[in-house]
Amino acid sequence: MTGSCMTHLECGSCGAEHDATRLHNLCTACGKPLLPRYDLAVAGRTLTRDSLRSRRSDLWRYAEVLPVADPANIVSLGEGSTTLVRASRLGDELGCKHLYIKDEAGNPTQSFKARGMAVAVSRAKELGVSKVAAPSAGNAAGALAAYAARAGIEAYLFMPRDTPRANIIETSFTGAHVRLVDGLITDCGAEVARGKDAEGWFDVSTLKEPYRVEGKKTLGYELAEQLDWRLPDVIVYPTGGGTGLIGMWKAFAEMEELGWIGSERPRMISVQADRCAPIVRAFESGARFAEEFPNAATVASGLRVPKAIGDFLILDALRESRGAAVAVTDAELIDGAREIARLEGIFACPEGGACVPAVRQLVATGMIGADDRVVIFNTAAGVKYLDTYTQ
Ligand SMILES: *Cc1c(COP(=O)(O)O)cnc(C)c1O
Repeated sequence: MTGSCMTHLECGSCGAEHDATRLHNLCTACGKPLLPRYDLAVAGRTLTRDSLRSRRSDLWRYAEVLPVADPANIVSLGEGSTTLVRASRLGDELGCKHLYIKDEAGNPTQSFKARGMAVAVSRAKELGVSKVAAPSAGNAAGALAAYAARAGIEAYLFMPRDTPRANIIETSFTGAHVRLVDGLITDCGAEVARGKDAEGWFDVSTLKEPYRVEGKKTLGYELAEQLDWRLPDVIVYPTGGGTGLIGMWKAFAEMEELGWIGSERPRMISVQADRCAPIVRAFESGARFAEEFPNAATVASGLRVPKAIGDFLILDALRESRGAAVAVTDAELIDGAREIARLEGIFACPEGGACVPAVRQLVATGMIGADDRVVIFNTAAGVKYLDTYTQ
């Protein structure tokens, strides 16, 4: 298999180019996220739609459009290649004939955070990192701890004190250094920023590090292949930092350049919890950036992100795709998780549950038509949220 065709890193805001063979966090010119770029003409010589059939099944099958140069540096637990489940009974209930659930609970560490962390840790290992640190609402910590353990890299993780217990326990089992913070993920991020220079940590906060988004973009490649190279009409994504949405949007552009798909795009929809809805608020007000959401609170811990560094990239994708951003209540999203279980047999996480009331709202407003092909995400396993569900 050919290796990575990455050429450089490019700032998602000012376009400044950075040398990808060195460690980077944010753009040194403007402080915004850096995105890897590839020579897709070269990548396309070996990475073809047909070639995928005979490749390994995990996300490393897309090696040419991932950042790891030497396959020996890949740290893998078999991430990616999750099932896309046809959800006919739930679809009937919602008035949506072609509804699918991308079930990300099948990933290592039982959440889609594994995609991003597998790629970030592999590349960090390749670039000689020995200590990583990150703030997390829970699942990112579990995934980072797992891949760091496998890579023999030390991990320092900062989580809010009220993070689901499963996340705290899974993380501490790996031997990672776990610090619980009285505050939100933004406060945890501040702790990482404060300690990193003195402690020699490489900060792998999402989108402050260029490669987690590359792991998450494989969601977009998989969806295209699973739907026989016709993208869905609508994608409903439970949005915290927005890494998966930004990643899929990037994957669609890459696939068009590879000649795999045309210029059509799904309408991209962000769903957030109503008491932590910075993207919904910015989308509605027409703002390019999102203000920090005051007193952010929701039981869907993965959505408890009051300020996302990639806010403008999320908002650009929503607007360019003529999509939307919708807010749902905690009661609605928990009910949504119950409906997914009752009608489709999947014990979903609260974040995944949020997609159900979102689709219901969008069908009611006509944004989703009965014949549209709609994909929603179960981003983690329900079993990681026993304390949330038994409250
Ligand atoms: C992190 C997380 C999200 C949000 O993902 P982003 O790509 O950061 O928006 C949604 N659901 C779960 C379960 C998560 O852990």
